[in-house]
Amino acid sequence: MNYAEMAMGTWYPKGGMHEIVRAMVSLAEEKGVKILLNQTVQKIDVVQGKVTQVVTDQGIFETDVVVAGADYNHVETSLVTSENRNYDDAYWSKRVMAPSSLLFYIGVDKRIPRLQHHNLFFDEDFKRHAQEIYETPRWPSKPLFYASAPSKTDPTVAPEGCENLFLLIPVAPDLPDDDAIRERYFDVIMNRLEAYVGENVRDHIVFKRSYAHSDFKNDYNAYRGNAYGLANTLMQTAFLKPSLKNKWVNNLFYTGQLTVPGPGVPPSLISGLVVADEVAREFT
Ligand SMILES: Cc1cc2nc3c(=O)[nH]c(=O)nc-3n(C[C@H](O)[C@H](O)[C@H](O)COP(=O)(O)OP(=O)(O)OC[C@H]3O[C@@H](n4cnc5c(N)ncnc54)[C@H](O)[C@@H]3O)c2cc1C
Repeated sequence: MNYAEMAMGTWYPKGGMHEIVRAMVSLAEEKGVKILLNQTVQKIDVVQGKVTQVVTDQGIFETDVVVAGADYNHVETSLVTSENRNYDDAYWSKRVMAPSSLLFYIGVDKRIPRLQHHNLFFDEDFKRHAQEIYETPRWPSKPLFYASAPSKTDPTVAPEGCENLFLLIPVAPDLPDDDAIRERYFDVIMNRLEAYVGENVRDHIVFKRSYAHSDFKNDYNAYRGNAYGLANTLMQTAFLKPSLKNKWVNNLFYTGQLTVPGPGVPPSLISGLVVADEVAREFT
């Protein structure tokens, strides 16, 4: 079998990505920011071209400036009224989305020596999988996948003698997903993973959770169940991306992976910096 295995550059913070959030929260609080958690924004109220208040499931908050960091399409279609949207449905339906993902979070009660922290299973036809994401969107006939084992380099993410795995199949956005489909793909990739590591893994699974389109929609209001925002095509680059600023509402801005500079954790953080500069320029 022709397995490609790669040890990729380490961008991984000890303790997991959550540590980045923890560090940012601590810095923000040090600067006097008050963070309110576990509230769903239900409405952004606009009066005469200005946001006056944000309504959540727990209260109403008067506002000077609003920076919306949720999925851009969700903000436009569910939180502001149609006359205050930057982009209509026709615009959104023409956007090329980056892939979504079918994910499995797995805890295994033993070590798996053959795995590295990053393992790419590029042992099937790359072109075909890409076509089934972008050109003829459908569940992939022979999926490529990524297997991450952070417990290889970070002892804090699994009990001693155990492995913490994260399996990811990139898939087209907006596919119907149900338990039967997820299980079918789980079997396909487990067969390949077990063949590669040369031992049984299935019987040692002590924790398993799957995550796909419907979860991205329910948990994050992600447009078409996207996982990484817009695809990086030429026509969706730089100033051709959804704008940081609402053109009808003077004090409403957007940030995050669907606006500039684009998808990924570093670009989304940079997006926050860019919008902060814009707000400071206009409102101080
Ligand atoms: C499986 C996976 C693997 C990835 N791997 C990498 C990687 O290795 N490297 C990398 O750089 N990037 C990676 N990414 C991409 C990266 O995670 C995203 O680009 C980035 O997190 C987007 O940040 P954001 O702030 O735009 O959106 P989010 O992080 O999605 O934040 C938006 C927040 O808004 C909240 N929200 C939505 N609606 C409402 C509402 N009505 N009221 C209140 N809150 C609301 C959501 O709950 C969410 O917390 C990965 C993404 C996935 C899904």
